[in-house]
Amino acid sequence: MYIDFHNHIDFYSKDKVNEVINIINKEKIITIACAMDEKSYIENIGYSNKSDYIIPIFGIHPSKVKNNKFNFDKIENYIKYAPLIGEIGLDFYWVEEKETYLNQIEVFEYFLQTAKKYNKYINVHTKGAEELVLDYIKKYDVSEQTIIHWYSGEEKTLEKLIDIKCLFTGSVDLGYSDKTNEIIKKIPINQLLAETDGPTALQWVNNIYGMPDEIKKVYKKISDIKNVEVEEFKEHCSKILKEITNFNKK
Ligand SMILES: [Zn+2]
Repeated sequence: MYIDFHNHIDFYSKDKVNEVINIINKEKIITIACAMDEKSYIENIGYSNKSDYIIPIFGIHPSKVKNNKFNFDKIENYIKYAPLIGEIGLDFYWVEEKETYLNQIEVFEYFLQTAKKYNKYINVHTKGAEELVLDYIKKYDVSEQTIIHWYSGEEKTLEKLIDIKCLFTGSVDLGYSDKTNEIIKKIPINQLLAETDGPTALQWVNNIYGMPDEIKKVYKKISDIKNVEVEEFKEHCSKILKEITNFNKK
């Protein structure tokens, strides 16, 4: 069984999404469908009604924070209901409006605090703010329930995130980026997971519209780098998924 720990089903174009769901069902790819915001979460819930393999999760992506005010009571209900939280985090690289960064931090802190309260794992975006994300994860004591999505920051921050036992997802740029290959080499296999990040990630990497079965290539590349059998890596990922979904029952 393949598990895609970070996808965006609502990113697929309307004419492709049925094919996407068919692939997920046929290949039995358990797919964690991250939300960008409330609208995206509701859309993903709709898609999950067509597949037992799609798990919609709730979060507000840093690029959607802007200067918006959020209804945190409503958000808390979504968090209680979702098996894990994401996509949340900070982005000081792609998001250029510096005047929105404080609001990003405020929203991120709210999610960390609430993840701690309800024992939920979090799927975290760190682009250009890796060291600050590290500080906040430590501040709210959530490192052992954190999945760092597609890490691309500095090595010294990576080492600290590994030390505090975060999990990490390898993504579709494996095999295309020497830096990413080096990052995956550094992360112990028991802290590694895999993702596709929706159709646009692979498009960004090499102009291919990424379908859900791209996850197989990511598993193969990670397994090759870590010198393990794909089956062994798949078993490890299934074990982690169980831990993640049982975590809030503790
Ligand atoms: Zn994403």
